[in-house]
Amino acid sequence: MSDKYDLVVIGAGSGGVRAARMAAATGARVAVLENRYLGGTCVNVGCVPKKLFVYASEFSHAFHDASGFGHTVPQTHFDWPTLKTNKDNEINRLNGIYNNLLDGSGVEIIHASGHIASADTVIAGDRRLTTERILIATGGWPNMPDFPGSEHCINSNDVFALEHFPASVVVIGGGYIATEFAGIFHGLGADTTLNYRGDLILRGFDREVREYITAQMTASGIHFLCNTDISSVELLPDGRRRCHFSDGSSRDADTVLCATGRNPNTEGLGLQALGVQLRKDGSIVADDHFATSVPGIWALGDVIGTPALTPVAIEQAMCFVNQQFGDDSRLMDYDQIPTAIFTQPPIGTLGLSEEDACEQYPQDIDIYRSEFRALKHTLSGSAERTLMKLVVRRSDDRVLGVHMVSEAAGEIIQSLAVAVRMGATKADFDRTLPVHPTAAEEFVTMRSPSRSY
Ligand code: NDP
Repeated sequence: MSDKYDLVVIGAGSGGVRAARMAAATGARVAVLENRYLGGTCVNVGCVPKKLFVYASEFSHAFHDASGFGHTVPQTHFDWPTLKTNKDNEINRLNGIYNNLLDGSGVEIIHASGHIASADTVIAGDRRLTTERILIATGGWPNMPDFPGSEHCINSNDVFALEHFPASVVVIGGGYIATEFAGIFHGLGADTTLNYRGDLILRGFDREVREYITAQMTASGIHFLCNTDISSVELLPDGRRRCHFSDGSSRDADTVLCATGRNPNTEGLGLQALGVQLRKDGSIVADDHFATSVPGIWALGDVIGTPALTPVAIEQAMCFVNQQFGDDSRLMDYDQIPTAIFTQPPIGTLGLSEEDACEQYPQDIDIYRSEFRALKHTLSGSAERTLMKLVVRRSDDRVLGVHMVSEAAGEIIQSLAVAVRMGATKADFDRTLPVHPTAAEEFVTMRSPSRSY
C-alpha cells in the first residue's frame, strides 16, 4: 500500500503533535507516527505526572504547617496505589484528548515506529509512506550510566510505574529530575538521599540559588551526598539495594533512581545510513529552520539538543509550520526562556545568572536580593525561607535575570518573564506598585543593590 503526504511526523510528543496539528490546519496532508503513547514524555512520564506527584508531596508540608493556624491534623496516611491509579487515569484521559485533537484536525495517527528509508520515504510497519517532508520529533530517553548493578536501579520513566512506595530512596544526579524527585519522595515520607557527583547541584543555574535550595532541602530532611560518584549497586538478600560510592562510602535503600540526564532518541530511525549529521551526544544537528544535513528531513524538540523543555518544543513546532506552510516569518528565539524547577520550595528562573551576567558585562552589574521568611511561615513553624534576586545591567538599568526560591515560583516567574522580555528596567520594577501582602511584592520593593560588580 502506498500513501503520499505533505508531512510525516515521527513522534507524537509535545513538538510532534503541535507540528502535525498546525500543519494539517493549513490543509496539508499529515501523518504522525507513534510507537508508544500520545503526548510523549511531558504527558506520560514527565511534566504532568511529575507535577501531580509534587502536589501529592506538598500536602505533607500543609499538614505540618496547619497546627500553627489552630488546626489539629489527625495522623495522616499516604496511600501510593491511590495516587498512582488516579495519576494513571488522568494520563489516560490526556492520551484520549491528544488522540481527539489529532483526529479532529485531520491528522492520520499511525501506531508504529518509523524507519526513514530515504528523504521522502518512511516505513511504518507494513506501510510505505511517501512524503514531501519528514519531521523527526522523537524526543529523549533516560540515560542510565554504565556501572555494575545498574540493572537494580530505576530510571525516570520507571518511577511513574512503581508498584510499591519505597521507605528509602537514593536519587542519583543533580539536575531537574533528581532534585524534583528527591523532594517528591521526601515529602511522601521516604527517607531520601540525593547523590551528586559534583560539589553543588543544578549546574548551570545561578550559584546563590543552587546554594540556597541545597540549604532548604537539607533543612527539610533530605540527605545530600556530594562530591562522590556511584560506583556500583548491589542487590541485598532482603531485596534492598546497597549503593557503593567512589569515596568508599555506601548507603542502603529500597529504591535507587538514576536521574542522570536524557539521551536523544534516534534508535531505529536509520539516520546513519542516510547520512544525517549527529553530534557526539547523539543529538541531531538542525539549523534555525530545523533542517538536518539531509534535504527533506527536519527535526525539532529534545532530539536536536536545544533546551529539553516542552514549551521550547511547542514553539519550535509553531516556527517550523510557519516556515514550511506559512509565510516563513517566524524564527525560534532561545533568549530568556523562563523555567521552574519543582523542588520544594520551587525555583523560578529567567535570563542570566549572576555569574554569567558578570562574565558577559564585566563592571556593569548590580544584584538586588532579598531573603526572608514568608508571612505564612511566621505561624506555620516551618523553617522554609524565600530568596528573590534581580540581575541588573547598571549602564542601561535593564533587568537581565530574575531568580527565586519561593512557594509559587513557577507562577510568579511566568508573569515577570513578560515584563523582562519587553525590556523592563529596574526603574520599571520600582514604579510598579506592590501587591500586598505577597512574597512577589519583594521584586518591586528592593531599593538598593546588595552587590555591585
Ligand atoms: P539534567 O541534564 O538536568 O541533569 C543530569 C544530572 O545527572 C546532572 O546533575 C549530571 O551531573 C548528572 N549525571 C549525568 N551523567 C551522570 C553519570 N554518568 N553519573 C552520575 N551523574 C550523572 O538532566 P535530567 O535528567 O535531570 O533532566 C533532563 C532534562 O529534562 C532537563 O535538562 C530539563 O531540560 C528537562 N526537565 C525539565 C523539567 C522542568 O522544566 N521543571 C523537569 C524535569 C526535566 P553533572 O552536572 O556533573 O553533569
